[in-house]
Amino acid sequence: MNPTKAVIQDKSLLVSLIKKCTTSRDLKLIQAYIIRAGLAHDTILTSSLLVAAAITLRRHVAYAHCIFSWTHHPNIFMWNTLIRGYSVSNSPTRAVTLYKDMLLSGISSNSFTLAFVLKALCNLSMFEEGRMVHCQILKKGFGFEIPVLNGLMKLYIVCGYVESARHLFDRMRERDTASWSIMISGYAQNDMESEALALFKYMREDSAYIDEFTLASVAAICGHVGALDLGRWVHSYINLNNIKMDVVLGTSLVDMYSKCGSLNDALIVFQTMVKRDVTAWSAMIGGYAVHGCGHKALELFDSMRKANVYPNSVTFTNVLFACSHSGLLDEGCKHFDSMQLEYGFSPELEHYGCMVDLFCRSGDVTRAYEFIRKMPITANAVLWRTLLTSCKTYEYKELGECIIRDLLEIEPCGGDNFVLASNVYASLGKWSSVSNLRSLMKDKQVKKEHGWSSIELDFTVHRFVMGDKSHPENDEIYQMLDRIARKLKQVGHIATTTDVLHDIDDEEKENALGLHSERLAVAYALLRLPKESTIRVVKNLRVCRDCHAALKLISSIYKRVIIVRDRVRFHHFQEGKCSCNDYCLH
Ligand code: ZN
Ligand code: ZN
Repeated sequence: MNPTKAVIQDKSLLVSLIKKCTTSRDLKLIQAYIIRAGLAHDTILTSSLLVAAAITLRRHVAYAHCIFSWTHHPNIFMWNTLIRGYSVSNSPTRAVTLYKDMLLSGISSNSFTLAFVLKALCNLSMFEEGRMVHCQILKKGFGFEIPVLNGLMKLYIVCGYVESARHLFDRMRERDTASWSIMISGYAQNDMESEALALFKYMREDSAYIDEFTLASVAAICGHVGALDLGRWVHSYINLNNIKMDVVLGTSLVDMYSKCGSLNDALIVFQTMVKRDVTAWSAMIGGYAVHGCGHKALELFDSMRKANVYPNSVTFTNVLFACSHSGLLDEGCKHFDSMQLEYGFSPELEHYGCMVDLFCRSGDVTRAYEFIRKMPITANAVLWRTLLTSCKTYEYKELGECIIRDLLEIEPCGGDNFVLASNVYASLGKWSSVSNLRSLMKDKQVKKEHGWSSIELDFTVHRFVMGDKSHPENDEIYQMLDRIARKLKQVGHIATTTDVLHDIDDEEKENALGLHSERLAVAYALLRLPKESTIRVVKNLRVCRDCHAALKLISSIYKRVIIVRDRVRFHHFQEGKCSCNDYCLH
């Protein structure tokens, strides 16, 4: 396009040419023409140039600023356009500065200005300025404008004030789909999944239009908490309402199904996706990996390469994870090498982590230790913990004690470290070291992460912590636990007590184990779920050795399939066996 060759006098033609610009070069040519034609101060043309530079072309907001500076009396639309451009740029602070300049120049803000400034403040997490803008909003009577309120809600959420955001949400006279979506994903970002799902239920009852963003974030929440029924509902809603299943939504369903333990459904969605990008492939490979289907993960990785999709760093993490969780030592080493030599990736900590895990699981603790020492990047606490766990399993006592010292130096306040270290000392019978650690924990006020397990029942997620007594059906749950304990004893289950943090006597230990959160969740599921249905539990920590053994037995005593997703992987308990082949305990 070369506008100088044509004689253009019609302003609307110039405007439409500006709208068609895809590069800043084209835009500059038109601007040059406008200046030569003596139209430099035309409001409509200047506004169009600004919109094109600041918004359509996005990355050219600095150029937009130049155009703006040449304008004698920028109007509110021009100020807003530039503020909007900066709000989503790499320098959102300039949006805030411009807003202040605008007020100083005597131009009064409108609801658009405030919505754009809020977007900038959100990207900067600037709470105090946000509160001042909130006051402005109330003063100017924009307190009922949906985009402004949506912006405010987002800001409160980003700054961690979820309750205040909810307060605003509740007081909105009218809401659009974005309002619901912001609040639901806001809860999810703050680990308040139950609140997010409760709000989604309310959204459905309110007959609000549910868009693909909301569906994708609800699917992600379902995956996180293992709410399979609701996840299925999201899937059928998409089908029934002819919502376009793009690659983002498709991938979120693949991820949801695999995290909810239904690998088959994940595969069906994956296979029916029209377009699959590297994220979709990686999600499916990751699904196979956490379910312990290492060979299938590698086959899929092969298909992905044949389909000419270039892997990324996440793909390799999932491939290596698949190898380590299925004990595929040679394949793991092969892919680790090919990642560097064939694809030119420098391994990151996650990749090294998978390799350390792989060596540890194959029992080669010395190789894992050597590998960590030769790594070009510094190992983090997670890697040392992996190694320490295998030192405990394979009884590398001296190495274990060395690592405990290193670990507590790297991460002196990590609750996990103290628990693991205590368990290592406990397994060696070094009770004095255990009690030293405990007093150290008290001194440093270390808090260990509390374990919880959840199950979904009638679209509601029930969460239990160890020894939980807060459930409304508490009495029945504890009676069920008693029955389970008796049956376990009858089939000869002896509690493995070495994983207990402190040296309490054996009977007390046994009690503490029997009340681990996953036991409560399973007891509740046995009480309330229909006879044939699969029991699906999500746990935030790893399943301990004793619960693992007990769940295997429970699956055969009650003839139920129990699927537990712990922090690391899935365990499918069926007929007295687990799909992980007890790898998790290494
Ligand atoms: Zn346990
Ligand atoms: Zn298992």
